[in-house]
Amino acid sequence: MTNTLARIPLAGVIGSPIAHSKSPQLHRHWLKTYGISGHYIPMDIAGDDLERVLRTMPAMGFVGCNVTIPHKEAVMEIADLVTDRAILIGAANTLIFRKDGMIHADNTDGYGFLENLKAGAPMWDPRSGPAAVLGAGGAARAVVASLLDAGVPEIRIANRTRVRAEKLQSDFGQRLHVYDWVQAGNMIDDAALVVNTTSLGMVGKGELRVPLDGLRKGMTVTDLVYAPLKTNLLATAEQVGCVTVDGLGMLLHQAVPAFERWFGKRPTVDSATRAAALR
Ligand code: NAP
Repeated sequence: MTNTLARIPLAGVIGSPIAHSKSPQLHRHWLKTYGISGHYIPMDIAGDDLERVLRTMPAMGFVGCNVTIPHKEAVMEIADLVTDRAILIGAANTLIFRKDGMIHADNTDGYGFLENLKAGAPMWDPRSGPAAVLGAGGAARAVVASLLDAGVPEIRIANRTRVRAEKLQSDFGQRLHVYDWVQAGNMIDDAALVVNTTSLGMVGKGELRVPLDGLRKGMTVTDLVYAPLKTNLLATAEQVGCVTVDGLGMLLHQAVPAFERWFGKRPTVDSATRAAALR
């Protein structure tokens, strides 16, 4: 029998590949800042080993873990309890290993997205007008769910593969309007918020080629891509006089509820947190 009370809590991130993840720097920064004796470890795990690894981790002292590509959907099948928002989004990014042995799966991406937006664009009012969302992948589902929750009256969505956007519309309902990818520029006209959820603009990926003439001073524009921090979308929006919010803050804010659940302290996202994640 182990003395679980004396154990140093362990957490980490599971994915494959995992070397690029910024989560270890981030959580280690908070552990150090708050003087918590715990560890956060990156773990490259193959799909075939996923369930066995997850079922073994609690006995090793793990209190939970983050989950990233390609396991965000598969962990939903393994978990014993899945939150409604993770079910709606169709993916989980946070697991909590409960004392009763159950694995609890949640998705905090939407929370992180919205908190980042509130922090970076405090004047943005969700009810002030339509949101234009570029992309309909996994991250877009979290963004759409959080925007609907926040009270955005209309969400316009365009995706290269139209059927994925249509799937979002059928899952999330009447406030969503699907545009053709070639007309994505049109949906920006008179939008209060523009969000890029595609991987375009990221280092090593293609450029986002959507026409941006519809951007106007006062609009809020945010990009989920955070490498580079200032994407071409954000640079163009800044020139026009839009309020811009980079994607790094979403990564930082989505980690807050997980850190609190695992280590018992709600961390603050500040400039030192950003610096730690960028290190
Ligand atoms: P995903 O499920 O693979 O979706 C990728 C999206 O990008 C899809 O909408 C896809 O369109 C679109 N796309 C990719 N290549 C394209 C191209 N050449 N032309 C047009 N569209 C293209 O990925 P995800 O998980 O949603 O992540 C999307 C981005 O968000 C990634 O860059 C990721 O790093 C970032 N992200 C950031 C955070 C954060 O904390 N800041 C959190 C989550 C994700 P199709 O459907 O047509 O393929």
